Amino acid sequence: MTEVELVGNAFCLDFANTVNARPVARRDWLATEEGALTWAAATGHPLDEVGDLAAARDFRETVFRVFQPVAHGEQAPQDDLDRILAVHGAGVLHARLDRDYRLTWPPPRTVEVLVWEAAASAVELLTHGPLDRLGECPSCCWVFLDVSKNRRRRWCSMTTCGSRDKSRRYYAGRG
Ligand SMILES: [Zn+2]
Repeated sequence: MTEVELVGNAFCLDFANTVNARPVARRDWLATEEGALTWAAATGHPLDEVGDLAAARDFRETVFRVFQPVAHGEQAPQDDLDRILAVHGAGVLHARLDRDYRLTWPPPRTVEVLVWEAAASAVELLTHGPLDRLGECPSCCWVFLDVSKNRRRRWCSMTTCGSRDKSRRYYAGRG
């Protein structure tokens, strides 16, 4: 099975990166129950049950539509910002703040909880940044926070898009 790659440096960005290319994906971790279970476990957000994958994929695209323009110094669409806040609000209503000061949700953990976690992460990133470190891989549409010292990260990963870009730029995505 293909390995889960986590390059976003924020949960909401890794959530947006569960699809490997847009608009047509060749791999989508949220397309199947097995994929969702594998991805969630690999991110340290394991699921008890899967739940509504179509709703999770739909929210993923909302997250992407918000962060993609911000990665290019442009404004996010207001209706997508409204949706992220509405989903976050619904999540907070179901959550508790635990004694490690994290939002947690009672079991069973489903993709709905992943969506709430992604919404919380997105609100945190949007309100606290560092948005000036947000980037989008020019080859595969993955979004990430550049945490490198010199702030010159361009690719999702040097071992995939960074190394093969020159010869395979016309491929809209990653393998
Ligand atoms: Zn890439």
